[in-house]
Amino acid sequence: MRLVLLGPPGAGKGTQAAAVRDMFNVPHVSTGEMLRSAIAAGTVLGEKAKAIVDAGNLVPDDVMAEIVKERLSAPDAAAGFLLDGYPRTLEQATTLESILQALGQKLDHVVYLALDDAEIVRRLSGRRTCTVCGAPCHATAAPPRVAGICDSCGGALVQREDDREAIVERRLRIYHERTAPLVGFYRQQGLLREIDARGTVHEVQARLVVALRRKQAAPRTPSRMGSET
Ligand code: AMP
Repeated sequence: MRLVLLGPPGAGKGTQAAAVRDMFNVPHVSTGEMLRSAIAAGTVLGEKAKAIVDAGNLVPDDVMAEIVKERLSAPDAAAGFLLDGYPRTLEQATTLESILQALGQKLDHVVYLALDDAEIVRRLSGRRTCTVCGAPCHATAAPPRVAGICDSCGGALVQREDDREAIVERRLRIYHERTAPLVGFYRQQGLLREIDARGTVHEVQARLVVALRRKQAAPRTPSRMGSET
């Protein structure tokens, strides 16, 4: 199974990715996580990406192409993968096609988690992320058992630099300008499966499972979530 998880920041891509990964036994390839690890480790890539990521901007397409090409060429991604956070621009979508073509592969589905801006801001402003395992939680809607401590691994929870309000606004603007056109791009290819990302993690997961089991691609109806078409 070769999947892309598409959607605005805060739609729950990372959270849902964990469930999909276990369901299909494929590696979860999160470009955001790869960049954050590189930044934490102080690698050359990390040094290059830090200011861009912290400011909520997009890392240049050519840099991302190198990272994704290398990752998807790794043996554990040969039988499938779940891409989360890539592609984010039409250019990246075209690059992904070329990378997969060179590997003799094709995408099976693109799952689009649709969520309106007000809910995105609410989710991101309360999001806390584990400094050790990267698992997210919400300070008020899904608080950890012990304040400031990750339920999964006991690591410290922090607010990501790019989840601060001013940066969230910029990420949203960039999402609408650069990433949202991918919804139409993949719908046209018959690959898109649109899911309402409102509600609890379990509700969204149930919709996702149903959408992935459908044999045919979703009919080409206009998005209910606004301007993404
Ligand atoms: P995410 O964890 O997917 O929200 O990504 C966090 C940040 O990493 C983004 O706001 C970007 O700065 C950077 N990033 C992740 N994936 C990409 C990508 N495909 N293209 C450009 N920048 C990216």
